[in-house]
Amino acid sequence: MNNKTAKLGSLLIQYGLITEDDLNDGLKLQKLMGLKLGETLIKIGKITEENVQWVLSKQFDIPFIILEHVNPDSDLIVKLPKNFLMENRILPLFETDEEICIVTEDIFNYSAFALIENTLNKKVNISLGEGKKIEKALIKFFKSDAMPSLLSTLENIIEKIKNTSFYRIDIAISNHSCDISIYGCGILKKISKINNSLKKEDVLRAFDFLKIPFLYDIHENYSKVIFSVFPLINKTKEINYPAILELYGLLLPDFIIFADTNSSDTPNLLYSDSPIHGYPYISIKSRILNYSKAIYTLDSAPQTFKKHYIKVYMPQECSFCSTEGCEKCNELGYTFKKIEGIYDSEDLNTILNRSA
Ligand SMILES: [Zn+2]
Repeated sequence: MNNKTAKLGSLLIQYGLITEDDLNDGLKLQKLMGLKLGETLIKIGKITEENVQWVLSKQFDIPFIILEHVNPDSDLIVKLPKNFLMENRILPLFETDEEICIVTEDIFNYSAFALIENTLNKKVNISLGEGKKIEKALIKFFKSDAMPSLLSTLENIIEKIKNTSFYRIDIAISNHSCDISIYGCGILKKISKINNSLKKEDVLRAFDFLKIPFLYDIHENYSKVIFSVFPLINKTKEINYPAILELYGLLLPDFIIFADTNSSDTPNLLYSDSPIHGYPYISIKSRILNYSKAIYTLDSAPQTFKKHYIKVYMPQECSFCSTEGCEKCNELGYTFKKIEGIYDSEDLNTILNRSA
């Protein structure tokens, strides 16, 4: 009999919840059933789970949480792996600067607590709760919350669009699902679908959580909310102006200049002196920047210009899947040819094989 078992057994007797005989039965059966003592006594009907939890919380002075009354903190839950939480039946409740408060059914699950402490770099503060109810709360959360799949999808997309002409991510949210497309150089490509509805704030929370600064625009119609997000994932300080870049359209960290893609005659140039975190880009549209310092995306570049530093990724249809998306093209449907150098508009048109 190990220490934990001995302690729980004698506590249950001490509180008059079981008899010596019950305990002996439990200890014998425990080995056969391959369960913990508490679980065995519950299985054979000697006590209820609440009894065990109540005794433990009394003994160790740990609060017992009635789970029906709590709302899990979704920002916090997604910081820990879903499988880990489900396997260990741990429900994160809330966090402060120093502490993270969780509900567990097993206050001796030290390895799990250590993993949380190491992951979040905070002290774990535990409360007790019924295992089944913890599990139920987690399932309910993961079913209704599309956050975990949104996060992994976005991470994946951002990794894929590095060094391509795609620089905008469109997230179209409808009642039951969410379609994700990428845009750049005149190509709109549907790339992913999440079979859950998202809340509007989820998109902003996701980019915040991924620590990716971004600009965004929102369009709403009767059935959909569409976020156009421009992630500021390209960091550079050494740019010679003027320039044409197809690098996600945006630059960090000294300043951000963004040329919108709607019109090549009068591009909407957006400018900010400092990095913008989740800033709605419509509100800074009025700040038009001096054109000699402008950075354009390829599809917003003026028709004629003198020498420009140019760095663009030219999309070419994937020869294996013809834009369907396959392993060879990273599921994007296109491969990309890098063009970098100092060119004028005539050079560029020759390179791009189009008439001026
Ligand atoms: Zn392909």
